[in-house]
Amino acid sequence: MQKKKIKSIRVDVDKCNGCRACEVACSAFHSSPKYASNNPSRSRIRVIRDELDNVFLPIRAGYHAEAECAGRHSYVIDGRDYGECNFCNASCSSRDLFKEPDSGLPLKCDMCEDDPELKEPMCVKWCLVDALTYEEREEEGQEDAKPEDLEMGVEALLDKYGMEKVIETIARVSGEKVSKKE
Ligand code: SF4
Ligand code: SF4
Repeated sequence: MQKKKIKSIRVDVDKCNGCRACEVACSAFHSSPKYASNNPSRSRIRVIRDELDNVFLPIRAGYHAEAECAGRHSYVIDGRDYGECNFCNASCSSRDLFKEPDSGLPLKCDMCEDDPELKEPMCVKWCLVDALTYEEREEEGQEDAKPEDLEMGVEALLDKYGMEKVIETIARVSGEKVSKKE
């Protein structure tokens, strides 16, 4: 069984002071060319701020949702009310958060994928109070299909549908995939 690497960033909310260095570092790393500019609105991590109550919560951009949620959570923590979307990491149509400001394209944390690989993501590196901690662990992954399994599958299809039908279907499906990419 193959192992897959799971990367995560642990947030210690009590340590975050809302300095937003993580936003600056993330946007600079992802600017083009790299480090040419920094603009927190292009960052894949945003700090939800409540200065009066001294509450700061860094949220990393997650998935892209085509439509806004039909049902939402509301939160009361330590007697304080939080907005329905405060802790959500989605890029969705109901707000501007986690969208590239010029194009409107969704932003998603990629854990600072680079070649060669970074020792730790930029937001973690530049969080000088250690509110963000990078963690890696290995988990059992899905075993890759073996070539002999594939052969058995193809043989079964040939037996059932015949060579002509199978080739015709593969040609049609692969043509559709190519045109989708274009
Ligand atoms: S891990 Fe990298 S891409 Fe993700 S929020 Fe942090 S700096 Fe941005
Ligand atoms: S760099 Fe650290 S302390 Fe500053 S806002 Fe980001 S998570 Fe909070």
